[in-house]
Amino acid sequence: MGGYNATKQDPYKKLRLQILTSMIIVPVIPFVLIVIIGFYYFTTSLQTETISKMTRIVEDHCQVIEFFLNERKSDLRFIADSYSFDDLNRREGIEKIFNDLRKKSNAFVDLGVFNEAGKHVAYSGPYRLAGRSYKEAEWFKEVMKKDYYISDIFLGFRKVPHFVIALCKKGDNGSWVIRATIDTLLFNNMVEKVRMSKTGEAYILNSSGLFQTERRSGGNLMDRDPDSKGYLIPHRGIRTFIEKSGAGDAYLYATTWLKDDNWLLVVRQEKADAFRALRSAGYLVVMIGILGGVAIVAMAFFMANRIIRNMARVDEEKNRLDQQLIVASRLAELGEMSAGFAHEINNPLQIIRAEQTLIETILSELMERRELTESEDTAELMDSLSQIKVQVDRCAEITQEILKFARQKEPVPGKLNVKSFVPEVIRLVVRKAGVEGITLEQDIGDDIPLITADASQLQQVLVNLLNNAIYAVTELHGSLGGELRVGVRSADGRVEISVADNGCGISRENMGKIFAPFFTTKPVGKGTGLGLSVCYGIIEKMGGVMEVASTEGEGTIFTINLPSA
Ligand code: ADP
Repeated sequence: MGGYNATKQDPYKKLRLQILTSMIIVPVIPFVLIVIIGFYYFTTSLQTETISKMTRIVEDHCQVIEFFLNERKSDLRFIADSYSFDDLNRREGIEKIFNDLRKKSNAFVDLGVFNEAGKHVAYSGPYRLAGRSYKEAEWFKEVMKKDYYISDIFLGFRKVPHFVIALCKKGDNGSWVIRATIDTLLFNNMVEKVRMSKTGEAYILNSSGLFQTERRSGGNLMDRDPDSKGYLIPHRGIRTFIEKSGAGDAYLYATTWLKDDNWLLVVRQEKADAFRALRSAGYLVVMIGILGGVAIVAMAFFMANRIIRNMARVDEEKNRLDQQLIVASRLAELGEMSAGFAHEINNPLQIIRAEQTLIETILSELMERRELTESEDTAELMDSLSQIKVQVDRCAEITQEILKFARQKEPVPGKLNVKSFVPEVIRLVVRKAGVEGITLEQDIGDDIPLITADASQLQQVLVNLLNNAIYAVTELHGSLGGELRVGVRSADGRVEISVADNGCGISRENMGKIFAPFFTTKPVGKGTGLGLSVCYGIIEKMGGVMEVASTEGEGTIFTINLPSA
């Protein structure tokens, strides 16, 4: 039979294509949906996670910075409330107080006291600033107005970027101002220090977009941040967004205003860096997609080929069965026709027989009346006549047998004596066996009980078994050395008929198939494969059992076991 091969004139091409398409499309749709939905949820949750992490960092950082500034403010407030203007105005006084202050926090660089007119009356610190007038200084004007002020970074008289915290103390003898400078480096380090990956950074801008702390990726104190225009906008709470820098890199930003909305704390990270996990997820999804797709397509091809191969095999089998059915029906027709022939031949035979009797009678009468004398010739004539009678009777017998065999009628079960019935059936094949040089033995036991069976059906079974046996024997021995033994015996109140031969036998592989309809090993025209399946059915209907035992190359024995009547 061979395997199924896709050829140019492949009759299954269209079907194969349909199976392939449906086998690919059906799993691919849910697969793609699952991958897309999974990817969507995965990336959204990753994005949310990244953004909320940024938000948390800004929030915490903002709190730390605000806390630091408030602490420093409280330190100054404590001094202003604990000491009088005169206490501070003394040189040793301010030195001592500043030293105490430094012990609390080393963020303080210097400490100065100013009178109402803005004159720097006392100073402790590394610069020579005492005696200078700050009347026109921005911070001084502000602090006189608002009682307290934290400046932006500015250069001032010392020409070094710094920022100050100042407090105004209203006394009975007029107001005075206390001011401290904060260590820029220390503050810078505090702001800069955020725990984020490589490209993460934090810095502060004032409301004009000038750096109040340095930016790691470029941006010196008091320089203008060229990108700040895009995000230096008033807002409440924390704002997160993605924006491109002037250099073309996209950044994920989180910003919040602090110091009474004067400073903008910015935490930012390169977008590619922040969403690195997203990119990996993307690659993973693409890979899963490719692998899944390849697996589905490969599976579809494999299954489609398998299905088509099976279909091709089934079709082939069907074609073979169709062919056999045609042969079988032709044989059935032939059977019917031969019944017709037999019937037709029977009539002339009867006429010949009648004519023969007439001739015989006339001859006898002639001889009785001595009109014909007995001679050698008349004796020969009488011999010929009796030979005609024998042969006509034989022909009539054969036609009767054909008619009996071919007649398709409802089974009429009746009491049957197997002991006399079996030899009758054997007689039908004796001649054929003789021609093939087969010795036919009968072994009919005594005390065989009657059975209930339709005689013509049992005859059909036996004839079929005998014909199969004759075929198997000639297959192996040709026309010399074949043996056939038919046995009848009673066994436990039942009747057992066996047909044994020393023919070619049945292979182990075929043993399970011989009772299947249309199974045959004979060439086309010699066998239909229907015989045994029909016999099996007939015996089963009679309440009997049909069994087979065979050794390949040695012979076969079929046994029929029937219930007694
Ligand atoms: P058919 O005779 O038309 O082939 P059957 O159903 O009578 O159909 O037999 C089926 C097959 O069983 C045969 O083709 C043959 O291979 C095997 N078979 C039947 N009887 C014998 C036997 N006595 N010896 C060997 N093979 C047999």
